[in-house]
Amino acid sequence: MMPRERTERLHIGCHLSSAKGFLHMGEEAHAIGADTFAFFTRNPRGGNAKPLDAVDAEALRDYMKRHHFAPIVAHAPYTLNLCSDREEIRDFARRTMADDLRRMLYLPGNYYNFHPGSHVKQGAETGIRLIAESLRELLSGLPEGGAPPPVTILLETMAGKGSEVGRSFEEIAEILDRAGADSRLGVCLDTCHVYDAGYDIAGDLDGVLREFDRVIGIGRLKALHVNDSRNPMGSRKDRHEKIGEGSLGLETFISIVRHPLLRHLPMILETPNELDGYRKEIQLLRECAGEEAEGAERSGF
Ligand code: FE
Ligand code: FE
Ligand code: ZN
Repeated sequence: MMPRERTERLHIGCHLSSAKGFLHMGEEAHAIGADTFAFFTRNPRGGNAKPLDAVDAEALRDYMKRHHFAPIVAHAPYTLNLCSDREEIRDFARRTMADDLRRMLYLPGNYYNFHPGSHVKQGAETGIRLIAESLRELLSGLPEGGAPPPVTILLETMAGKGSEVGRSFEEIAEILDRAGADSRLGVCLDTCHVYDAGYDIAGDLDGVLREFDRVIGIGRLKALHVNDSRNPMGSRKDRHEKIGEGSLGLETFISIVRHPLLRHLPMILETPNELDGYRKEIQLLRECAGEEAEGAERSGF
């Protein structure tokens, strides 16, 4: 009998509600075939977080270990703005993120992803400087890096709607540089956002990844948001679509889940779906990655 070709399992999950606590999210993820997930650290509008339940956090840690989860990707409230033109808004964002990051230390080794911000007519250069200053301050309040660091902060690549900062790899790279190129910083690439920002991941995925490597360094890429887009390349709209039903198309996602530079990364679905829709998309992408061979003999060709 020929030895079965072993490919590492795809690490994939979706955005889940945190309403029923940490362990519940782990169980819900596992039940739909996921081995990672995302959640909002608090109300997306940025209000108060529930008091942290350390016992529940430890239960999730154990559960993730038992079920071989990849790192999870917590998401900051998307209304926070580290580069607002108003000091009280920047300060609120900084304090909220500092509190979120302290909480993440109860789930060590995972990721905390945030939207860099909107410069509101101050210009991208000012936005970049403000974001980098805040990141330096946040990092100074965190334990030093290890391997993996207790928490890694991920900047999300943005579509570029309004005055969003982070629409180009250059902007992300400049924030990282000015924040001290710290090993506790990384990037979460959102497939819908980069396409909307004008990067042709449908026509030339390899070329875009080469560009990412040249400008940012591929080692900074820690996670993916896997979303199709409702709009054409360069539209700067940021409207997510179900996998295979948008302008990126299923072929693009087949290339992504099979790509040697991407397939080991945690992939988070943020598509317009309920839980059962996510379960189907996870199954679809696992099949696209060649996982239907699991437990079956692969025919040689
Ligand atoms: Fe996001
Ligand atoms: Fe996203
Ligand atoms: Zn989006």
